[in-house]
Amino acid sequence: MDGVAAVSGRKSRRESDVELYSEAPLPTERGLFRTVVFRDRRTGAEHVAMVKGDVRGHAVLVRAHSECLTSEVLGSLKCDCRAQLDRALDLIASRGRGVLLYLRQEGRGIGLGNKIRAYALQAQGLDTYQANRALGFPDDLRRFDVAADMLRLLGVRSVQLITNNPLKIEGLREAGVEVRRRVSLPSPSNPHNVQYLRAKAEQTGHLITTDDDLAAAGTG
Ligand SMILES: [Zn+2]
Repeated sequence: MDGVAAVSGRKSRRESDVELYSEAPLPTERGLFRTVVFRDRRTGAEHVAMVKGDVRGHAVLVRAHSECLTSEVLGSLKCDCRAQLDRALDLIASRGRGVLLYLRQEGRGIGLGNKIRAYALQAQGLDTYQANRALGFPDDLRRFDVAADMLRLLGVRSVQLITNNPLKIEGLREAGVEVRRRVSLPSPSNPHNVQYLRAKAEQTGHLITTDDDLAAAGTG
């Protein structure tokens, strides 16, 4: 917490709050990855990196993905997290080099219980941001310094970031990550998440990309 450590280069660098705890090869439906577990010394949270290929160096394809139990495990259609996770892993596997950071910060950092409270408010007509504010939370409590620490420990020097969220690019840059370019992901819509996607686009400047856009432009 109070570890303001040695000054390095352009920016005084915090002492890392996460440590590389364990790693192993992991065969997956998308081929062989290396899975690396990091532990946050302050909170005990365990964050995961799915690593493909040799990611030491520059211009590494990276997705910083926040846990979403409701969509990824339970099949909720209220958001697009599972599709984003799948597509990011597909892209990294197809390129043969990249990292997916799986960050344990459910519900933009407010936790699962509060996320479900927010869903209850949304069932009464509030959008995703109005609901969080009604519960007393700011729009986004996600931390980018953890992601920056994980990338540094993996030897990643600069990234091509897979995201539609300009705030994520800003957050990572502020945490000291060199973001060379943005790689967009399509957001498939359904009747349950149309309002959610629209709120993201209108309120935080998310750059929503459809499958058609991508087919026209290629993902690269
Ligand atoms: Zn989600």
